Amino acid sequence: MPASSGSELEFKFQAVEEEELEPEYDVVIVGGGPAAFSAAVYSARFLMKSVMIGEEPGGQLTLAGTVDDYIGIPEVIASDLIERFQGHAAKYGVRLVMDRVESVEELEDSRKRVTTLGGRETVAKAVIVAIGSKRRKLGVPGEDKYNARGVSYCSVCDAPLFRGAEAVAVVGGGDSAVEGAALLADYAKNVYLIHRRDAFRAQPINVEALRRKGNVKFLLNSVVREIFGDTKVRGLIVEDLRSGRRSELRVDGVFIEIGFEPDVEFARRNGLGTSEGGYIVVDDWMRTTRPGVFAAGDCTSAWVGFRQVVTAVAQGAVAAYSAARYVRDKWG
Ligand code: NAD
Repeated sequence: MPASSGSELEFKFQAVEEEELEPEYDVVIVGGGPAAFSAAVYSARFLMKSVMIGEEPGGQLTLAGTVDDYIGIPEVIASDLIERFQGHAAKYGVRLVMDRVESVEELEDSRKRVTTLGGRETVAKAVIVAIGSKRRKLGVPGEDKYNARGVSYCSVCDAPLFRGAEAVAVVGGGDSAVEGAALLADYAKNVYLIHRRDAFRAQPINVEALRRKGNVKFLLNSVVREIFGDTKVRGLIVEDLRSGRRSELRVDGVFIEIGFEPDVEFARRNGLGTSEGGYIVVDDWMRTTRPGVFAAGDCTSAWVGFRQVVTAVAQGAVAAYSAARYVRDKWG
């Protein structure tokens, strides 16, 4: 896949399904999102022989529209940002082999045998896990159709796109939803917070702060049944769970903030300690509970509640630094 034609990075990136893995690497990076690309670039800069094994290039960015919070590249189309990441990894000669890693098994000398769903196998001195976490979906008609055309899963990322909008809705009852609604209230004229219960999981102080905003309306005991529009979102069908009544709510955007689903099974299967929420536990240096295995990005227990491209790439860089130090200390 060629790097972005408008970009100064003109290196050819290889995301390959057919390609074989080499028998051994210093560092295997699991994942294909921003955290993984950053880990790849930094690992290579630390002269580690590295490879990425991921399901697709881009991760959650493949679902995003415009990214306007990645420092230095304002209003970049998400697919262009992915191409830039790919170009940067290509500059350092790191390939992405498209596959899903199943197991990271311990060998007698502390190296790891990495096995994939597609039947590939390799050995690594260190492994960086950057498998992200899926944002939970509502599962209603219109949700996928209007993704990035009014449907967003990240208020912090996309609130500024709704400056001056007549109305937006936020769905959820946790801190992300409540804080997202508060942020959106500073951009849009009217905000609806739609929550299926009448009590919030969010911290009371955040709920109180939201109640003080003059332009936020709480729709409690209510659920979204449908998202409709034309070329972009125009409104929602909302059901009041007590009366069963359905009504149409005109909005320009809907923010679905109902949580994340980290791949707990991957962590358990591979002996990585997890937090209560199912995230891979890491210390300040992105070390997991298992020596030689590091983690970065949305799959980790670090900075839960503030998930950004910039935080993911920061963790990727730190994980690569730690992995390189680990490899040098152990194998010279
Ligand atoms: P990610 O979810 O983007 O990438 C993880 C990747 O790993 C995915 O491609 C997934 O398919 C792959 N994967 C999962 N399990 C795997 C396995 N077992 N083997 C191989 N591959 C596997 O996660 P990330 O890189 O940690 O973070 C991306 C960041 O970007 C997040 O913080 C997110 O919130 C942020 N983001 C921001 C915007 C914005 O508009 N600013 C938009 C989208 C995403």
